[in-house]
Amino acid sequence: MSARLPALFLGHGNPMNALQSNPWTRAWAALGASLPRPRAILCISAHWYVAATSVTAMTRPPTLHDFGGFPRELFAVRYPAPGDTALAAQVQRLLAPLPVQADLSWGLDHGTWSVLCHLYPRADVPVVQLAIDETQPAAFHHELGTRLAPLRDLGVLILGSGDVVHNLHTYAWGRHPREPYDWALRFETAVRARLAAGDHAALIDYAALGEDARLAVPTPEHYLPLLYVLGASVPGEPLGFPVEGMDGGSVSMLAVRFG
Ligand code: ZN
Repeated sequence: MSARLPALFLGHGNPMNALQSNPWTRAWAALGASLPRPRAILCISAHWYVAATSVTAMTRPPTLHDFGGFPRELFAVRYPAPGDTALAAQVQRLLAPLPVQADLSWGLDHGTWSVLCHLYPRADVPVVQLAIDETQPAAFHHELGTRLAPLRDLGVLILGSGDVVHNLHTYAWGRHPREPYDWALRFETAVRARLAAGDHAALIDYAALGEDARLAVPTPEHYLPLLYVLGASVPGEPLGFPVEGMDGGSVSMLAVRFG
């Protein structure tokens, strides 16, 4: 049996990070170089937020350019990592009796490739994506994370890709840097404290943080990948924040590493 791999959450931020070299992307590259090499990656991306739990089951997942209004160079990015049909089937078994559809229509969205192109630029680690069921409450997503945890002992890197704080209405597009909003910092600080305390219940019930939560998490999809990673964590294992910072005032680049 291989050593247990860390479980990792990355704040992916602006899709343009895929093309840039900045402190965040360099930290991602350093992470990729320092982690034990995974056999495969199971990515829970904020950008596959649909009315079911599905898993990509194609051998060659296409690179999806699931955004508009960005430069042509970004649409030219390809991340040709192979899929892993055996891992997809394993995910289905671990989550049974929950029906998990073997998906042949999605691929790798930018939540996945905009970070993996820095962690594993050779695209030589197989990648499977798991959809986030938008009809389910936060506790459901945490529970799925707990059921996926055994994959960490089988050489699989469980990767959540979202943003702890993600408010695009207040985000300073193209006007960097902007000082972080107070509510953004307060919410991120609260999340970090709850992670350090191992307080899963409070992280699931993030809405209890009131107005700060309403502003930091106006819609749940960028926060929920964190709950998968939290669910897959093991009590007492090391916790780290290998990437930090707030982009454009209201997008947290915080990375969370368990193990
Ligand atoms: Zn995003």
